[in-house]
Parts: sequence; C-alpha cells; structure tokens
Amino acid sequence: MTAASPIPTHPRLGIRMAYRLQRLLRPNAGYRRLSAGIEAAGPARRLFTGGERAVKGTLFGCRMCGQCALPVTGYVCPMGCPKELRNGPCGGVGSDGSCEVYPELRCVWVEAYERAASQGRAADLRLLHRPADNRRWGQSSWLNYWQGRDDDLWHSVSPGGTTPPVTPPRKS
Ligand code: SF4
Repeated sequence: MTAASPIPTHPRLGIRMAYRLQRLLRPNAGYRRLSAGIEAAGPARRLFTGGERAVKGTLFGCRMCGQCALPVTGYVCPMGCPKELRNGPCGGVGSDGSCEVYPELRCVWVEAYERAASQGRAADLRLLHRPADNRRWGQSSWLNYWQGRDDDLWHSVSPGGTTPPVTPPRKS
C-alpha cells in the first residue's frame, strides 16, 4: 500500500476537543479486549482500519503510519512534513512559520508547538521520537495503541542521555 504524499495539513479538530478525546480513549481493559477481538477477525480489522483512515484522514491528514504521534504534537500530524521529520522542524522554516517545501503552508512543527503550548502542553514537544517503523504503515494506530505496541514510541530526554520510555499521553 502506498501512502499519500506528505503535505502539511491543518487539523480540523480543535485542540481542546482533541485532548478531551485523548482522555476518553486512554487504554484500559475494555479497549484492550475490544481491540484484540477486532484484530482476531480479518473483516472487522479491515473495516476498523478503513474507518480510522477515513476519520483521521479528514481530521488530521493522516497517512496511516500506524504509530501515531498526534498526542504529543498538538494533534498536528508530523508525517505531513514533506521531509517526514518526527522530531521537530528542519532548518528551512520561514520567518513567518511557513514550510520550506510548500511556502504557502505553515510548518507542521510550528503549528504543533502553537497548539500544544496553548493548552500548557509545550513540554510534549521535547520528547524524543523513535524513527518510524516502516513495517507498520497501513496498520491501525488505534489498535496498536490499545494493544500496548506504542509504549516506547517516544522518550523523555535528560542531560545525560535518554531515560526509559515514558507513558504515552492519551490519543484521540
Ligand atoms: S497515525 Fe501516523 S500518519 Fe496518521 S495521524 Fe498519526 S502520526 Fe500522522
């Protein structure tokens, strides 16, 4: 499956609502059982993954990388960065916050910072993301999240290096 080309996308979901949904969808035993049941049935899995693709594609320009970073990027998809940078902007950001590749659009990382900071979550942007695992493209990130496969997606950074994985903030 080929993902759509990366292009910066302005989220259609307000940041307050996104963080509310994040709390509602936090993993628990119920979601774990539900996601295990969906994964066990091929058609249900395909249907669920298709639904996620439609919803998140519309709201966030999701490209289905299968390892969602939205909870710590102010719900701005970093895979919309034309360079697919998951750890902050490149050096080409315009002084007005514009993307180097698409100057008519805003850099996803500038927008991520603004949205997270507006809710007191600017510290999220300091987390260090692991490189994307390309084997997971096309998978449902919600199922991966509820099954605990996203637990080491990002680390906090300490002066002496990295610390063990932090508990992921909750997703929408
Ligand atoms: S699953 Fe990946 S591509 Fe989709 S919104 Fe999350 S980070 Fe972006």
